[in-house]
Amino acid sequence: MVIYSIKSTVQFDSNIFLIIGNRTILIDTGSGYGSEKIIQNIRNALDGRSLDSVILTHCHFDHIGGLNKIIETFGCKAFAGGDATYIRYADPAVTLYEDFDGELLPADVEELSDGTIIDIGEHRLRVIDTPGHTAGSISLYDEVTSSLFSGDTVFNNGIGRTDMPSGSSSDMQNSFQKLSNIDIKTLYPGHGPSAFGNGNESVRYGIQMMGGF
Ligand SMILES: [Zn+2]
Repeated sequence: MVIYSIKSTVQFDSNIFLIIGNRTILIDTGSGYGSEKIIQNIRNALDGRSLDSVILTHCHFDHIGGLNKIIETFGCKAFAGGDATYIRYADPAVTLYEDFDGELLPADVEELSDGTIIDIGEHRLRVIDTPGHTAGSISLYDEVTSSLFSGDTVFNNGIGRTDMPSGSSSDMQNSFQKLSNIDIKTLYPGHGPSAFGNGNESVRYGIQMMGGF
């Protein structure tokens, strides 16, 4: 199992994960404020390989601001769930880039639909629509290692906000319901520490936080 956590020097940046199998996939890019260091760290982890794809868990600036620089540097393709539309048009209301004092240019992003399987040998990622934090948020479940890349839906000890544009608390409840049926060993969230060995616990805790259902 080869999953790297790519370090950023920018405190509010999303977590950035690099998955290496037959192909290489980056999950989220951070805001772009720390791109130089991040690109160096990705290069080091790639160790001569190319970067094939970037998958974005959702459209918030702290997760996608670095996208164009990554595409420019590595020549990779970019994918997202339903939030792809907001990223393509650099929608200010939903991407929140002005709140981060950032700039965002439109980017070429393909949309992945729920249930899509991305097979890269040692990892087989399934796209799961998990709206709530944003309308087009996705999680990626690695069926080989039972790992969940949960973006800002599930954190190690909490849940993502639902009060921002396109967010919805009832969608969030449905998403947690969906995730509670999956065996999650390791949780790789969009911010904060990962949960090793007990990812289901984080989902159960989130359900409790929402008052149970
Ligand atoms: Zn977010």
